[in-house]
Amino acid sequence: MSDAFEKLCDHSREIALLNSIESLLDWDARCKLPEQGSAYRTEQQAYVAKLVHQKQTDPRIGDWLADVQGTNLTADPQSDTATIIREAQRNYDKQTKLPVELVEALTRATNDGQHAWVEARRENDFSKFLPYLENVYQLKREQADAIGYESCRYDALLDDYEPGEKTSTVRAALEALRTDLVPLLEAIQGSGKSPDRSILTRDYPVSKQESFGSQAAKAIGFEFDRGRLDVTHHPFCTEAGPDDCRITTRYDLNFFNMAFFGILHEAGHGIYDQGLRKSQYGLGPGHYLSLGIHESQSRMWENQVGRSRPFWDHWYGAAQEHFNSLQDVSLDDFYFAINHVEPSLIRVEADELTYNLHIIIRFELEQALIDEQIKPADLPEAWNTKYQQYLGIQPPTDADGVMQDVHWSAGLVGYFPTYSLGNLYAAQFYQQADKDLGGLDELFRRGEFLELKRWAGEKIHQRGRNVTPAELVQEVTGEPLSHTYLIDHLQSKLSPLYGI
Ligand code: ZN
Repeated sequence: MSDAFEKLCDHSREIALLNSIESLLDWDARCKLPEQGSAYRTEQQAYVAKLVHQKQTDPRIGDWLADVQGTNLTADPQSDTATIIREAQRNYDKQTKLPVELVEALTRATNDGQHAWVEARRENDFSKFLPYLENVYQLKREQADAIGYESCRYDALLDDYEPGEKTSTVRAALEALRTDLVPLLEAIQGSGKSPDRSILTRDYPVSKQESFGSQAAKAIGFEFDRGRLDVTHHPFCTEAGPDDCRITTRYDLNFFNMAFFGILHEAGHGIYDQGLRKSQYGLGPGHYLSLGIHESQSRMWENQVGRSRPFWDHWYGAAQEHFNSLQDVSLDDFYFAINHVEPSLIRVEADELTYNLHIIIRFELEQALIDEQIKPADLPEAWNTKYQQYLGIQPPTDADGVMQDVHWSAGLVGYFPTYSLGNLYAAQFYQQADKDLGGLDELFRRGEFLELKRWAGEKIHQRGRNVTPAELVQEVTGEPLSHTYLIDHLQSKLSPLYGI
């Protein structure tokens, strides 16, 4: 193996080592750090980030890449060596194409933007947020132009989260999804049926929620000797090394869903991280593929599995043993309650169906903003119009409307569609797993979940970045991404519940 290639690998692993230290500092800051410790923590994190940046822009990377590009190491694009080189090139280009002044301006704009967003949201005053939002969007346009794109500016931003994916493909999938979701939602609303949701807001003691949730996370394959579950305000999953995956959740004494489905969701992310190839840690083949594929793994365990009838055929007895509040509740009533569909204002609280409409609205608006088809000043009106059109509701305030998410203030433009892509990938992968494994329902009724974990590990997790998301979908399911699997999944679950 060439000398330049070895150096490139060692250097990439060193960057991963620093990044893992940064993510441990970040996890600690979000879960354990005493209040007074945050000022020095910011310095620690900024220092490590500076070291990472220096390493990532080391001009020797350019020399090593020049030595290995076009050699037999890159002959087979899906090989480990070609993937390592492709990823190193991609990272190096992203780091070196952006002028230092632009990177600094973006850091400042997004820090200030997030502070302004918190305050403006608290005071329900969009005009206070507006100048910061305008600034962030202006800089994101400059970023897209500096990175470059073929057909549309949004492509350059989407690529940060969904490598190789094109706006036109995502738009086609999400438009088709919306076209089929709207009549399904109308039918549900016209059914006159609705579950008793109050059973989910009875008393659910936190310690019982923790033990029940952990038991379920373990059963689906989250490895607690290579991971942890802790408490935070905003749940997330992170890793601080190949055998150190951290997931978090939050508990509400009077709401069953939040922690339980939150734990399944984050455990799904964790199982993906734990399923990556350890020997390739820090290199393309050992890296998660994209945010959409990551989200497909969390949504698969949360929704396809965790909200299914066979899952609860197995778990409901244990749930009743844990929670007195469920003693007098039938499995039918519980199952209907956890699968209730109703348009609501807040994305993060939305059900499995309407969630996608929240995403489609954001996806359409952020493209229009990037292309300057609408101005940030017109955003509240455009937002409310789309909520009326797609969900039939109007937010009473901008705080619960256009200012509900942190993403735009933080410069995360192109991020939203990955949530719905995750739902689409999850449904398409799941139907294939069901075929390959000869019927998952029977396995779940027996409490056997590890076959699905093994399948996903082999077909998805261990493929790393050797393929693009589009190639992975084709490889695993034999066809390109299609919205029909998610529609089929929702229809076959919701039709019997709502009698439609
Ligand atoms: Zn997620």
